Amino acid sequence: MSTSDAGQLPTPVLEIQDLHYGFPTRSLFEGLCLSVDPGESVAITGPSGSGKSTLLSLVLRLIKPSAGRIRVAGTDVTELRRAQVARIRSESIGTVFQFGELIPELSPRDNVALAALLSRSDRRDSFQRAQRLLDELGVPEAATTQELSGGEHQRTAVARALINSPALLLADEPTGALDPDTAERTAELLFSLPRRNKCGLLLVTHDSRIAARADRILRVESRALVPAGERETVA
Ligand code: ADP
Repeated sequence: MSTSDAGQLPTPVLEIQDLHYGFPTRSLFEGLCLSVDPGESVAITGPSGSGKSTLLSLVLRLIKPSAGRIRVAGTDVTELRRAQVARIRSESIGTVFQFGELIPELSPRDNVALAALLSRSDRRDSFQRAQRLLDELGVPEAATTQELSGGEHQRTAVARALINSPALLLADEPTGALDPDTAERTAELLFSLPRRNKCGLLLVTHDSRIAARADRILRVESRALVPAGERETVA
């Protein structure tokens, strides 16, 4: 785990300072701040349209803030060129979205290995690591990903998110398309990852039961993030 100059505090895996973003017709964020440490999970809640997904798009630098700084694993992504952004995304960020965003015609193993191959990992090593992760997460072998159940599909998306050992995991309504039991099991898996893998997890959800598993719950309110309740961190 990397540390700050003082050698005491861990470098946040995500640090957002004084973020401003909006459209000509509407301001979404004004002075939004957020810090996520390695091993920590943060849930973002708020009504539909409040800007939760847009915040993840800003962290991924799919869109650029009008002002403010976003650091991922210590690197300021706000001013990076496209190729550098692509590298940070592939090496430092893992994503799990509502529908998994996997390629249905590829096998689970190919989907997961592809993320490693795109970050220029060795071919044989990529496929071995992909298979190991899928075994750990209990995903059965399948010729195509579209054969998987909803839960298996999301566990494959989690494996893909983890294969490059990212510092930061972003999840956007990752349980939104699952039945309640599968949603619970998927949430349990996701929230076990920060401590197990020493990464940070930033998870967007409108489901208060899912959010309740996070170390911290924040709500988008008045174009910023405000605490919505806290849980004690389990050692
Ligand atoms: P959430 O994830 O909280 O449901 P989103 O981040 O998806 O919210 O969207 C935030 C708001 O920004 C929504 O009201 C959406 O309609 C609005 N929005 C998105 N793109 C544009 C745009 N190009 N111009 C104006 N408003 C937009």
